[in-house]
Amino acid sequence: MIIDTHCHLDFDQFRADRNSVIERAEKAGVRYFINVGSSLKGSRKSIELASEHDSVFASVGIHPDDADGITEETFTEVERLLENKKVIAIGEVGLDFFKKRSTPDKQKTLFTRFIDISKKRNLPLIIHNRDAARDTVDILKKNGTHPILGVMHCFSGDEKLLGEVLEMGLHVSFTCNLTFKNAKRLREIAKGVPLDRLLLETDAPFLAPQAYRGERNEPAYITELRDVLSEILNVSKEEIEKVTTENAKKLFKIP
Ligand SMILES: [Zn+2]
Ligand SMILES: [Zn+2]
Repeated sequence: MIIDTHCHLDFDQFRADRNSVIERAEKAGVRYFINVGSSLKGSRKSIELASEHDSVFASVGIHPDDADGITEETFTEVERLLENKKVIAIGEVGLDFFKKRSTPDKQKTLFTRFIDISKKRNLPLIIHNRDAARDTVDILKKNGTHPILGVMHCFSGDEKLLGEVLEMGLHVSFTCNLTFKNAKRLREIAKGVPLDRLLLETDAPFLAPQAYRGERNEPAYITELRDVLSEILNVSKEEIEKVTTENAKKLFKIP
């Protein structure tokens, strides 16, 4: 039994065959999906999906790329969405300085605001960081609780960042990018994650595993990630499933 803690089944890439994608994943062993909102529209659709499928939970958040367009009304809507019983996390939120689609200052303000909401609601954070590790850590240390309830999703930093993330109490999740031929260094770093902090995710439709590289990713492919983790951490596939499911259930309070 596996929990895909981060996917975007609300995206258009799944419009034509969403139900078969969910069925294929369930056949592969995925018991629960956390459909992560990355915009207001996406958060609304995540809740819609969660209400249609027992196996789907939703998170509410706005990707840092969209920080420039935020108004106070955005937060009124966010608070309203958070009232839904199947919303179990805040995210994805964070910083993305890769293409700087929104100004860094606005991104930081938005991220801080969501950290406050997560504290107020006692909901875990699903954190996105791309090329912004320093600021992400600084903001979390300054504004977060100790330990911080949440996960650094799609981990892609070095040992130093991993150390800081673990020190803050966060969980760490890898996507199928860990299976890439050229991800040797990341696989080395992954060995430093204690089993009780590890989560699995696909970030589908993005980052399909090596065997399907360049195609649409889907939650069924999460088994490729499980297999690679089993190899590099030297524990059985069953153990990877068991501990990551326990971790996810505990962090996201999934019954
Ligand atoms: Zn992300
Ligand atoms: Zn994502």
